[in-house]
Amino acid sequence: MTVAPGASATATRHVLLLSSCLVLVACALAWFVPWGAGPRLVTPLVGWWVVAALTALGERFAVHMESSDSAHSVTLTELPMVVGLAVLGPFAYVTSQIAGSGLALVLDRRQGPLKLTFNLCKTLLEAVVAVAVYGAVLDGAVAAAPRGWAATGLAVAVSNIVAAAAVTGVIWVHDREPDWSVMADAATTGLVAALTNSGLALVFVILLEQRPAALPFLALFYAVLFRAYRARGRLAHAHSRVAMLYDFTSAVDRSTSGESVTTRALVETRRLLRAGSAQLVLLADDPADSVGAWLARDSTEAGPVAVPVTAREWWAPAAAGQAILLKRPAAGEPLPQGPDGLAVDDAMAVPLRSNETVIGVLVVMERSGAVSQFTDEDLELLTALAGHVAVAMENGRLVSQLREELEQREHASLHDSLTGLPNRRALVAALGELTCRGIPCALLVVDLDRFSEINEALGHRVGDDVLVAVGERLAALVGDVRLVARLGSDEFAVVTGVGASADGSPAWLGMSAAILDVLSSPVAAGGTELEIAASVGVALAPDHGNTPDALLRCGDIAMHRAKEHSSHRSVYDVADGDRSHRALVLATDLRRAIAAAEIEVWYQPQADAATHEVRGTEALIRWTHPLLGRVAPEEIVSTAERTGSIAELTDHVLRTATSQLAAWRDLGLRLEMSVNLSTRDLLDLSLPRRVAEHVARTGLDPRWLTLEITEGTIMVELDRSLRVLDELAALDLRLSVDDFGTGYSSLTYLTRLPVHELKIDRSFIMGRHDSKDDAVVASTVELAHRLGLRVVAEGVEDAAAWARISAMGCDVAQGYGLSRPAPEAVLTPWLLARAARSAQVAPSAQSAAPPLCGVIGADAA
Ligand code: C2E
Ligand code: CA
Ligand code: CA
Repeated sequence: MTVAPGASATATRHVLLLSSCLVLVACALAWFVPWGAGPRLVTPLVGWWVVAALTALGERFAVHMESSDSAHSVTLTELPMVVGLAVLGPFAYVTSQIAGSGLALVLDRRQGPLKLTFNLCKTLLEAVVAVAVYGAVLDGAVAAAPRGWAATGLAVAVSNIVAAAAVTGVIWVHDREPDWSVMADAATTGLVAALTNSGLALVFVILLEQRPAALPFLALFYAVLFRAYRARGRLAHAHSRVAMLYDFTSAVDRSTSGESVTTRALVETRRLLRAGSAQLVLLADDPADSVGAWLARDSTEAGPVAVPVTAREWWAPAAAGQAILLKRPAAGEPLPQGPDGLAVDDAMAVPLRSNETVIGVLVVMERSGAVSQFTDEDLELLTALAGHVAVAMENGRLVSQLREELEQREHASLHDSLTGLPNRRALVAALGELTCRGIPCALLVVDLDRFSEINEALGHRVGDDVLVAVGERLAALVGDVRLVARLGSDEFAVVTGVGASADGSPAWLGMSAAILDVLSSPVAAGGTELEIAASVGVALAPDHGNTPDALLRCGDIAMHRAKEHSSHRSVYDVADGDRSHRALVLATDLRRAIAAAEIEVWYQPQADAATHEVRGTEALIRWTHPLLGRVAPEEIVSTAERTGSIAELTDHVLRTATSQLAAWRDLGLRLEMSVNLSTRDLLDLSLPRRVAEHVARTGLDPRWLTLEITEGTIMVELDRSLRVLDELAALDLRLSVDDFGTGYSSLTYLTRLPVHELKIDRSFIMGRHDSKDDAVVASTVELAHRLGLRVVAEGVEDAAAWARISAMGCDVAQGYGLSRPAPEAVLTPWLLARAARSAQVAPSAQSAAPPLCGVIGADAA
């Protein structure tokens, strides 16, 4: 006998043993059966084969009503049973039952040997019980008489319960867990149905005895009744299926990741279809690479394992989109195999579809209990489940995809994309953790020296390569390294412990040396070996701060100081902190001060060197900080450059100065205005437009406005600066090279720059000057005049200086000797007075006795 492999050999033995027990009980009961008794009702109309045929039909057209955990069939077998008991002798009755059931089981349900054996044994016992009870209760009375009714009812009830007990028993021995629902059903709804059917069958028997001619009417009634049963059965079936699907969907939906959807789906599918095992095969692009997971009868889970799909498997058509209900092969043919490689004699497979493509196959094998088999309705149910499993898996996939993306984003938010090192956020978090828990640590801020030169000279690609190499070298540092991070651009950070190293020095000291060492060898990038160098600033927790911010600030300050040291290393020093505290305060307050017009604009007059007539003024900023007092203009400018508010500052000065010039012009003062530009301004392509707006707003002649630039500015990004300068010159205003003679002298550029004026730096004019200074001044004047440029001498502090620069050919004088810078309120009366005097005094007289008007002491040092 071939045994269903899903059922283990022991289970098979147990089923066979139980079947034998049923036969034994039947044999024992047979003792009480009056085998010799003839039929109670003799009729030529119904022979044993008619009862057998009716029994087979009753089995065939059983109306199954299933719910998720029980299944009971309302069969019309009570009709042949009751009729058989009445019209056949006991032996003929038993024969008819076995023949009828056997016929239905073999021909219609195609049951395997084990199930068939059990079911036939069960039928035998049922039949013997029925005849025994019937005979005992009837005790010779007439079948159609009231005693016959009782005998019929009891025989049907008892045999039904015995059958239910047998089914419960076989599920128990097969599955090793009892399913009491079969018994419960048999004792409740099953019993009611059975007794009702028996009653109807009795009517048949009574008519058969007394009015056989009326039987066709009854048959008609039965037909109608059968249809009604079927309809109700379908309804109940549909209802229970909806309930089941609902349970299924909610159970599967509760699982979230792709993995557990598989498991949940298998568990639920197996439970709902009362299958021995369930399997899910996920098809790969190449079906040979498909993987599967399964849940076996003993609830062990396996997978994912490779389940190559070839065309040979019985379930392969499911991979092509077709649902399959496996029919038993003809005797002698080998049993097919499930995806787990074991032989099966009862199975179904359906495709899992996602967007019309088959993504997998759901297979269930071995209907539990060994007594029933999968039906077309089960196949429909499995198809519906598969639909939902596919959706749940798709959802699960999306959820895990989302989760993955989330993790990636989380990673990205804490890591630098170029070097893959933790970023500033991650560093702050790590420092926060250490400082919060009071763990002493050292923060080493590492900054590459002159990295911008690499970027500018060789391009950002090469710069990136260098940064990656630096990151790798730092990440490879050994010792008490807690974290290596990239803070941004060319700045890195290393966090170490503060323990002593072998030689007794603090660990961070050795670490800073190690960092400088690994960064001292050249980096291969851009096809060459690039020399690099770095500076390291050290801040210690808790000595220098116990928050990430404080440590980073101290580390930064120390690093900047290290840049000035030849050792390239520096530990934070409180004095540095004070300096940077001031910088911090200025940086915080400047933008607001600009917006609130707290930055004042003062003006310093410039006069014709020869005639002493005031030609114009230079606008100069002044800021008195509420806490820090007076802030030097250079410091204001550098703070604005550092904090990115230089455009606002320049705009503020331009607006104030042009408005002032317009006001003076309105007063009849024929002045010009010089405004200083910062190094950064010339890199700002929007500057020409902004300047043009100020000129247009005030309606000034652009030639009255001079913009002073320093040579250093132009050097930085020559092309860009030249573009801005050309556009400024195109506005028809004047450009002046300030502080001429200092900085990287760029005489070569002078011919290329669209400038109109040179301002000789005050260091050549003021105080102690020597013949060399004079030589510089004289040659500058000569050069400038050759190029058609006007020359302004700054720092003209006294009459002697004035006379000297005048003698050397300077065109304009500016300095304390004429006037200190002063606010408008002070300067306007002075200018008006000067203008009035100029109008009276002839130019020749003026030059003869230069009236030095160092009267304004507003800007006294
Ligand atoms: P600068 O453009 O060379 O301005 C001339 C500086 O020399 C002014 O210093 C002025 O007060 C000073 N000075 C003028 N005559 C004499 C003199 O006879 N003796 C001495 N010892 N000094 C004299 P200040 O106002 O302190 O400005 C310093 C620098 O700040 C300016 O140098 C300029 O580079 C910058 N600056 C001032 N205002 C602005 C501005 O609005 N924008 C920009 N970008 N920079 C400005
Ligand atoms: Ca200037
Ligand atoms: Ca100057």
